[in-house]
Amino acid sequence: MLTPPMIMPFFPPHRILMGPGPSDIYPSVLAALSKPTVGHLDPLFVGMMDEIKTLLQYAFQTKNSVTMAVSAPGSAGMEACFVNLVEPGETVIVCRNGVFGERMRQNVERLGAIAVLVDNTWGEPVNPQQVEDALKAHPEASFLAFVHAETSTGALSDAKMLCALAKKYDCLSIVDAVTSLGGAELRVDDWGIDAVYSGSQKCLSCVPGLSPLSFSDAAVAKLKARKAPVQSWFLDQSLVMGYWGDATGGAKRSYHHTAPVNTLYALHESLRLLANEGLENAWQRHSDMHQLLRHGLESLGLEFVVDKAYRLPQLNTVHIPVGVDDAAVRKLLLADYNLEIGAGLGVLAGKAWRVGLMGYGARRENIALCVHALATVLR
Ligand SMILES: *Cc1c(COP(=O)(O)O)cnc(C)c1O
Repeated sequence: MLTPPMIMPFFPPHRILMGPGPSDIYPSVLAALSKPTVGHLDPLFVGMMDEIKTLLQYAFQTKNSVTMAVSAPGSAGMEACFVNLVEPGETVIVCRNGVFGERMRQNVERLGAIAVLVDNTWGEPVNPQQVEDALKAHPEASFLAFVHAETSTGALSDAKMLCALAKKYDCLSIVDAVTSLGGAELRVDDWGIDAVYSGSQKCLSCVPGLSPLSFSDAAVAKLKARKAPVQSWFLDQSLVMGYWGDATGGAKRSYHHTAPVNTLYALHESLRLLANEGLENAWQRHSDMHQLLRHGLESLGLEFVVDKAYRLPQLNTVHIPVGVDDAAVRKLLLADYNLEIGAGLGVLAGKAWRVGLMGYGARRENIALCVHALATVLR
């Protein structure tokens, strides 16, 4: 027998989360988590899931009937898109301008498919001309995959133009909208996006652990025409659809897995708040708060990594001034101000900070605190 460990309850401090995610969570979203758990096939819960679907369709700006939340974080949404749609031997044009494009490549290759890479410098958006060249050179390609908002660098790519290119060359588009959903313009139907996934913990300001996902009719047709079953049982959307309600509607829901009931209450609340604010108002707020933060950071002499034309409002990447100890600054911000900002990732590790303004985090008092705290710590 092991003796029972004597462990105290865990009391996390109230941090201000201004990194690349998770973001500050709306108080009413946190409150929603502690509501009583009901059965995951309880008719009232099923009704709430239908509302989540409607709210997600609004957030994505899509009429896609296959719109749901994968019961796992954004990375699972990424994997769900690739594992459902891409078959072994198929060719995928993968745009790589940061960490998450590289993960797309790994997903493609693990499936036994071929990734044709379009590489762009970190901090720059995906270059549409290079994408068109790759599509021309690879008429066998079936997909174009790219990250709309690269959280590792803070660069925004032109999803509308890239999806139009995919259509022109008869490819389906797979789009990572983890950081863009709710924080920057995203129009799934108008832009002709075929498969899109996001995350609950970035601009939706919900708790981590869910990945909103939507498939166009063309993507659903591709899934239905597969030669072999989807390799992942858990992420197989043709099975999950039976739980979230079938594309044809009216189908009786059946057990697939136990939904994270309380986490879905939280998503329902955060999407409701987004709908109440209005998508365009939310995009504008992120943009306005970005300008305010930019002003503050520049007044401290900090310089942005990404050119003004492609900057993400919700993720501000600045060069760390020479001679400044990256880890020491972030440690002091956390210890003295309960403030978390993000470290650089990949080639930007140790060279840049990533200051997030996501969802509930994109507000004036956070910016005032961040600029004041950085000014003090840097001095
Ligand atoms: C955060 C993020 C992911 C991964 O989401 P997790 O919830 O951490 O799994 C994928 N893509 C982008 C662009 C992200 O910012």
